[in-house]
Amino acid sequence: MAPLRVLVLGAGFGGLELSTRLAEDLGDDVHVTLIDKSDAFAFGFSKLDVMFDGRTLDDVRLPYRSIDRDNVDFRQETVLTIDPEHKRAVTDRGTHEADILVIALGADLDVDATPGLAACGSEFYSPEGAAALSEVIAGFTSGDIVIAVLGGFFKCPPAPYETAFRLHDHLTRRKVRDSCTITLITPMPKPIPISDEVSKAILGLCEQKGIVTRHSTWVDHLDHQKRVLHLRDGGTAAFDLLLAVPVHCAPRVVVDSGLTDDGWIAVDPATLATKFPGVYAVGDVTSAPVPRAGVIAEGEASTVADVLVAQRRGAPAPPPFAGEITCYVEMGDGTIGKVNVNFLSGPAPTAIFTPPSLEGAAQKREFGALRRRRWFGLT
Ligand SMILES: Cc1cc2nc3c(=O)[nH]c(=O)nc-3n(C[C@H](O)[C@H](O)[C@H](O)COP(=O)(O)OP(=O)(O)OC[C@H]3O[C@@H](n4cnc5c(N)ncnc54)[C@H](O)[C@@H]3O)c2cc1C
Repeated sequence: MAPLRVLVLGAGFGGLELSTRLAEDLGDDVHVTLIDKSDAFAFGFSKLDVMFDGRTLDDVRLPYRSIDRDNVDFRQETVLTIDPEHKRAVTDRGTHEADILVIALGADLDVDATPGLAACGSEFYSPEGAAALSEVIAGFTSGDIVIAVLGGFFKCPPAPYETAFRLHDHLTRRKVRDSCTITLITPMPKPIPISDEVSKAILGLCEQKGIVTRHSTWVDHLDHQKRVLHLRDGGTAAFDLLLAVPVHCAPRVVVDSGLTDDGWIAVDPATLATKFPGVYAVGDVTSAPVPRAGVIAEGEASTVADVLVAQRRGAPAPPPFAGEITCYVEMGDGTIGKVNVNFLSGPAPTAIFTPPSLEGAAQKREFGALRRRRWFGLT
């Protein structure tokens, strides 16, 4: 029997985990073509190291050329069109077809969705945006800093708070914290909506560190010249330095393929199958009822691997994706808290919080090291 041909579009958290699992579990019985427009992966959280710790983008990049598996063929190509009916993708280098197609292209940032943001150019959710802001932050000595979440649906809900804590530490280290204010504006009603305990811990720390939070607050547009955010409730917020989380959207190539409903790809939450037979989607690009996070994309990818391996071996269907993840939250002074979340297996999501500690920080470092080893063979 010829090996199963799997075409994975996107080599982020989801695509890397899926390729690794299939390669390990199916061996000679699979051939994965893994496509990404970039030549390297970087963890989302490494953007904070770039902004606040003087690390460069090169320091945090994990090159795809390190992937060394006979049954995984990485190709640096840009996907131009997707034909889900025929499980086919056209890239800037050619056409790929497969028995199974998996969309793992993540979420794009829609800077133009917020008038005035493009002129201001101060988002930190892209690698380039974080790198550009690192220089501005390094030279910032006094004034009002606003961290603004501009959409209701964004990657890693704790990240804006982690940014505020790292910023506080950075300014304190440089002895300029007293001459700066830090305000976090977000449409979310609280930091982690499914957990009052984690939200309370985060808000307590904000208060302790003099970080002002404005929840359930939507930004309408911003005036780049006057450096003012205009809020939907008619209010305003002035800033000298803005750190923005732009509105997110599915990549245009995904929307044009007909795979999306309401802007994102609808999937069967148990199997991550889309409405097209043999086509699956994982991670930020889906509309699954879970937050957008690398660990979620990874868990979904692992479920797709289980489904494909079971199908291939004629085994019974595996259990559905449980939405069980561990989320690390940077809480300042080098400490990290941990939240063990279960989104899907009970009547309501549950979350167990482990308070911040240096041990938590060591566990997060191991989290990164493990993936560097498994996905890239890097020590
Ligand atoms: C500041 C910040 C901190 C974060 N911290 C955490 C954290 O601590 N823990 C956590 O779990 N998550 C965290 N996240 C979220 C996490 O990074 C994302 O949720 C995760 O990367 C989503 O995985 P994915 O596989 O769906 O998409 P991605 O990892 O975004 O991968 C998508 C891939 O598709 C590629 N691509 C897109 N379009 C094309 C195209 N047309 N052609 C070819 N390739 C294309 C991209 O280059 C990319 O490599 C953080 C995010 C940010 C911004």
